[in-house]
Amino acid sequence: MLKGTELASIKFSQSEKTEELFNRKAKYVSDGVSNIIPISIKQAKGSVIEDVEGNIYLDFYAGIGVTTAGHCPEPVIESIKKQSSRLLHSCFMVTMYDSYINLAEKLVAITPGNHEKKAMFVNSGAEAVENAIKIARAATGRQGIVSFESGYHGRTLLTMSLTSKVKPYKYEFGPFAPEIYKVPFPNTYNGILNVSESEAAEEYLKYFERFFISEVDPSDIAAIILEPVQGEGGFNIPPKGYWKGLRKLCDKHGILLIADEVQTGFARTGKMFAVEHFEVVPDIITLAKTIASGMPLSAVVGNKKIMDAIGPGRIGGTFGGNPVACEAALATINYIEENNLTKKSEEIGNLIVEKLKKLQQRYSEIGDVRNLGAMIGIEFVKDPEKKSPNKEVVGKIITECLKNGLIIISAGIYGNVIRFLPPLVLTEDQLKQGISIFEEAVHKILGEK
Ligand code: PMP
Repeated sequence: MLKGTELASIKFSQSEKTEELFNRKAKYVSDGVSNIIPISIKQAKGSVIEDVEGNIYLDFYAGIGVTTAGHCPEPVIESIKKQSSRLLHSCFMVTMYDSYINLAEKLVAITPGNHEKKAMFVNSGAEAVENAIKIARAATGRQGIVSFESGYHGRTLLTMSLTSKVKPYKYEFGPFAPEIYKVPFPNTYNGILNVSESEAAEEYLKYFERFFISEVDPSDIAAIILEPVQGEGGFNIPPKGYWKGLRKLCDKHGILLIADEVQTGFARTGKMFAVEHFEVVPDIITLAKTIASGMPLSAVVGNKKIMDAIGPGRIGGTFGGNPVACEAALATINYIEENNLTKKSEEIGNLIVEKLKKLQQRYSEIGDVRNLGAMIGIEFVKDPEKKSPNKEVVGKIITECLKNGLIIISAGIYGNVIRFLPPLVLTEDQLKQGISIFEEAVHKILGEK
């Protein structure tokens, strides 16, 4: 078990154990798989991580938005133990089992919309997005897919093609999948169109009029895929009305609307699913990350008619909907509901943002502070007028936080956004401690002002 949750005694030191692991990693693991944070984890519980040296860290990144219900929640561990002694694998496509069906029933019940829905399971966020696109194409008989500038959907060929950040994700990995069209994301802080926040929804929606003339006819488009809040792209929140406008546009042209909730789903933004903030019901939702507290599982949930448009045997995979992962998901969702983590997410978000906005008043380098619940982004700039990205200070602040026991990571196509994605089981003390380590790091790097 973890020794304790006292961060005060942290000595950020890399002694023999860490060094030995990094040396062996360099010898046996492809250099293409890198590590952002130079520690090696021994164990983790709740919001606390212990490394192999015995250093204790407060976790504000949650395995990139996965351990939303905390590291190793007891009911999830119990369900994994129970299921793993009952059945580890059968391949659902050959012989079925109840966990898969129970989880499908649960997701159909909790995802937005009262219409008839169905679900299917695969292993990763990228694989869920791939399947959503396959289903949308087959259901509409169309091939074109619209995705967004600064969006992220995964690293497989199709999802990399939908993604919008060249290095490291796409560089040298082409040729990319055809029939994918990018449109500007309605970024209200630093968008491609130079419009005010109040005009943003309308102006970015208007862009489609030109797009459907200059790029592709809407009758060739199967689906528009969008993250409710862009994750890897920098925690960009679309303006009010944009999602509703997209819904109208899709209905007008018979296009399917896909919400990629891989990072935003399951209480992260203060609602079970982030599209609920925008009062829109998508045709298809993709889910992963938080769904099973770290067990590899992802889901596609959608309108029954669309999900059934493909014939038997046309989607699936050997491991998809593994029984242990499905039981972990049922226990995770139950935990989120029983502990009202949506409310907790909102409270954590409000508390952190209040402190960050105060910090922003003192430092012109903090260009923007934005959040939906506990999905919080802080954009660093060189000057607030030009909004030119300031990646350098982000790196320095992250390192300073790590030295003092707080793990945070960056985001954004320019790498100039710090993202907070804490597990939603943080105690009040841990929350205060984390914020104060961050504040101190900002003071140290940007100077007392
Ligand atoms: N979609 C979104 C919105 C994501 O944030 C991610 C992962 N960061 C993915 C898809 C891909 O998920 P995975 O890494 O599990 O393939």
